[in-house]
Amino acid sequence: DAFIVKVSQAKALNAFLVETPEHAIAAATAADTARAAGETLKPLAGVPIGMKDLFCTKGVTTTAASHILEGFTPTYESTVSQNLWDAGAGMLGKLNMDQFAMGSSNETSAFGNVISPWKRNDGGNASLAPGGSSGGSSSAVAARLCPGATGTDTGGSIRQPAAFTGISGIKPTYGRCSRWGTIAFASSLDQAGPMARDVRDCAILLEAMAGFDAKDGTSLQLDVPKWEAGLSASLVGLRVGIPKEYRVDGMPEEIEALWQKGIEWMKDAGATIVEVSLPHTKYALPAYYIIAPAEASSNLARYDGVRYGIRDLPAGSGLQDMYAATRADGFGPEVKRRIMIGTYVLSAGFYDAYYTQAQKVRTLIARDFEKAWETCDVLLTPTAPSAAFALGEKSADPIAMYLNDVFTVPSSLAGLPAMSVPGGLDKQGLPLGLQIIGKPLDEQGVLNAGLAIE
Ligand code: GLN
Repeated sequence: DAFIVKVSQAKALNAFLVETPEHAIAAATAADTARAAGETLKPLAGVPIGMKDLFCTKGVTTTAASHILEGFTPTYESTVSQNLWDAGAGMLGKLNMDQFAMGSSNETSAFGNVISPWKRNDGGNASLAPGGSSGGSSSAVAARLCPGATGTDTGGSIRQPAAFTGISGIKPTYGRCSRWGTIAFASSLDQAGPMARDVRDCAILLEAMAGFDAKDGTSLQLDVPKWEAGLSASLVGLRVGIPKEYRVDGMPEEIEALWQKGIEWMKDAGATIVEVSLPHTKYALPAYYIIAPAEASSNLARYDGVRYGIRDLPAGSGLQDMYAATRADGFGPEVKRRIMIGTYVLSAGFYDAYYTQAQKVRTLIARDFEKAWETCDVLLTPTAPSAAFALGEKSADPIAMYLNDVFTVPSSLAGLPAMSVPGGLDKQGLPLGLQIIGKPLDEQGVLNAGLAIE
């Protein structure tokens, strides 16, 4: 009963930027026709999916929730969305998000906050953040507006919103899902993945989304495993690592208790628990907030008023003025902050001190995980250091907002598969998420551990 379920209230969540019922209906009709003809149904026949607005969709406005892309209608389809349509799914609409996927609360969208369907049980009526950047996806799935949605995760944007809204979401190994046609934020980190009500639905959706794509130079040339068929909630023989450095200062008791509960559930499912050390964990957040903005500043150079979206051409002005006016008007404050940080850390004189150093730290973090895999098979941690916060609570303080990503960025820097599954409710009746991190390419192990918890 914590959910807002009335259709009349669904719009208030502001989860959808564009609605495309005709697309979903066409998929449903095709499924009906195939069924009537006695044909074998495709794996997602007729399933209506919400698409994060970071995926380019042919003929359907795609903005990354930024004013600079207002009116941009791609002439091509992203590989991930095409894979879903090829599997029989249909698109219900494009989902709101943090602008260019930069944020943890959905408040950086140029088209208004997304609101979580959850409310605290203390009688207060504060609107809660659905998490970010895939907040339209989390809100829509949590409110049961669609059975599944796509998300993208650069430093936690699938997992943290899933945790905030009581749903499941998996970021696969970097390279499993093609980045082609997905608007780039930080190319060495960006990965698409599904968000859905449970682990099984995530497995089914990921199977459709993933796969080698020659159009993405970092796409892995591997067959897509049969993750759904491989699901098993028995963890007998599995070694679950508990990284001691994730016990961060000031971690709320409830998060600590959630983690303990997760450990007990894993043991009940037959796993053995081992403590592991990831000594460079504390450097992950600063390294991420150098590397991600650096890549973003380069990727976002293409929005120049010439090729996509809006163009501001003040009367009598020249090319440089057009660039400046378009970008000043088109990008939101968080995007500008990232571009400034990114160009600063990449500039001559500071490059070695910041960017090169952050890349070295990234390598050390990846090695920490490699070492951990000598003694365990998956890692269990909380997904986020808090339950959903109220809209506005952290938006004035970028550092407080960045700190919310403390548990999700290390595995992103290492390119590892990681998932958030619901771990129960806190005292205020809000969902908390548990994170499972796996070895490279071991999505199956991650999904199975998730299944044992949910
Ligand atoms: N919250 C993180 C950021 O703002 C992660 C975003 C993401 O994964 N897209 O960069």
